[in-house]
Amino acid sequence: MAVSSTVERDSLYIGGEWVSPASDRRFEVVNATTEEVFGSVPEGVEADIDRAVAAARRAVDEDGWATAEPSERAAVLGRFADAVERRGSELAQTVSRENGMPLSLSEQFEAGYSVALLRYYAGLAAALEVEERRPSPLGFDSLVRREPLGVAAGIVPWNFPVVLSMTKIAPALAAGCAIVLKPSPGTPLDSYVIAEAAEEAGVPAGVLNWVPGGREIGRHLVAHAGIDKVAFTGSTEAGREVGATCGRLLRPCSLELGGKSAAVILDDADVDEVLQGLAFASLANNGQNCAASTRILAPASRYDEIVAALTDFCSDLRIGDPLDPATQIGPLASREHRERVEGYIETGRGEGRITTGGGRPPGAGWFVEPTVFADVGNDARIAREEIFGPVLVVIRYADDDDAVRIANDSDYGLGGTVWSRDGERARAVARRIVSGTVGVNGYVLDLNAPFGGVKDSGIGREYGPEAMAGYQRLKSIYLPAG
Ligand code: NAD
Repeated sequence: MAVSSTVERDSLYIGGEWVSPASDRRFEVVNATTEEVFGSVPEGVEADIDRAVAAARRAVDEDGWATAEPSERAAVLGRFADAVERRGSELAQTVSRENGMPLSLSEQFEAGYSVALLRYYAGLAAALEVEERRPSPLGFDSLVRREPLGVAAGIVPWNFPVVLSMTKIAPALAAGCAIVLKPSPGTPLDSYVIAEAAEEAGVPAGVLNWVPGGREIGRHLVAHAGIDKVAFTGSTEAGREVGATCGRLLRPCSLELGGKSAAVILDDADVDEVLQGLAFASLANNGQNCAASTRILAPASRYDEIVAALTDFCSDLRIGDPLDPATQIGPLASREHRERVEGYIETGRGEGRITTGGGRPPGAGWFVEPTVFADVGNDARIAREEIFGPVLVVIRYADDDDAVRIANDSDYGLGGTVWSRDGERARAVARRIVSGTVGVNGYVLDLNAPFGGVKDSGIGREYGPEAMAGYQRLKSIYLPAG
């Protein structure tokens, strides 16, 4: 289904109903490619968050969602997946207009992968054993229960608004939690499509609630007395504040934050294959990708060859309208964000040598040319700070130990890749990288493996059974008398 040119939304999805917002404030949503307003939504205020949390509390405390048979929750998630799948095209187009994501990626990832996430957690819910009878070495048994934590708050950024919501919704609902989501002001329209899918699928009232808004209502949601867990994805700076609030409240939280990951190209790598892989691993979503391998580590023996090949590859990438399926690089998500990325490019001019890019293509849209900096040291700002755009730095290393040392010399640890013709050699290097995830000869998020960061990239894990466990609390019932 094609998305109509302008999308005006007047209500909020709270408690299974489309309700009037508490205030008449609104957000405009701007198309990243045309720079024109193409929609608007109500801006949630604290009273809306309060209503959403109350509705979620009713769903778990009174209406039986938390105590439902896991198989019932699995059935709900399965229907929800089907309803999201039917809206795949609408979702993908909405996201591509909101944040400039190339349609090939929004179709495959925002739409397709989201459905896969819902189905994966439906499967985990169906197999969930809430209570285990465990023999004790002391001669009696205990019951170990996995109970839902209650009401979760999900706070997401603008770069992958659908998948990052689903990485919270799917495991939370599978575990028996209800959730209140706060999308980013830049990308609220897709959340309405997901809410419509939830309504059609018969997700029980209050289990899923959305309140779009900025950081102020985000703060209100994080600290709300009715919240039992916070699942946050965003910048390291905001994550520290969310973590501090949760620490004060002794509230469980997961923090998925920024990154500055390394692509370690070993000296036997096939450069053509590496470049094909880096198109996704380093530049997916126009470089607005937390796990992107943006520090390219090249062996001194092949440095010039790799810089030349990467330069040609990046200068040939097709920049254009994200709705054109052939586009590889779309615009950045907002004017402010482009200014930030261009600021880093200016800084980089004093820290390395630009071999391609650095400018803006002519015309409308917040585009930045794919940019490569060579002769950069790992202590440069452009090598240490997250740029979050199509900007790569190529760093020289001496041998494998030196490559591992440079890869690990970062405040972050979220993603990373190792490239070699010798799989075992690459795996050995991957094991030495201090990061939550590493890809060997490619980078693909596995639904069934935990994803998350170390150091300034955050704490906690999403994906896999580990994410569902993050929405459960353990309770032991001792049976010393049988
Ligand atoms: P951001 O931190 O500014 O905002 C993220 C979300 O948090 C938004 O919804 C925002 O309104 C809200 N928010 C901001 N400050 C808050 C506060 N103090 N309390 C509560 N809510 C608050 O980040 P952004 O610019 O929207 O997104 C880009 C960042 O997200 C990058 O750093 C990127 O690396 C990171 N990110 C991380 C992952 C991951 O899985 N690790 C995935 C995608 C993006």
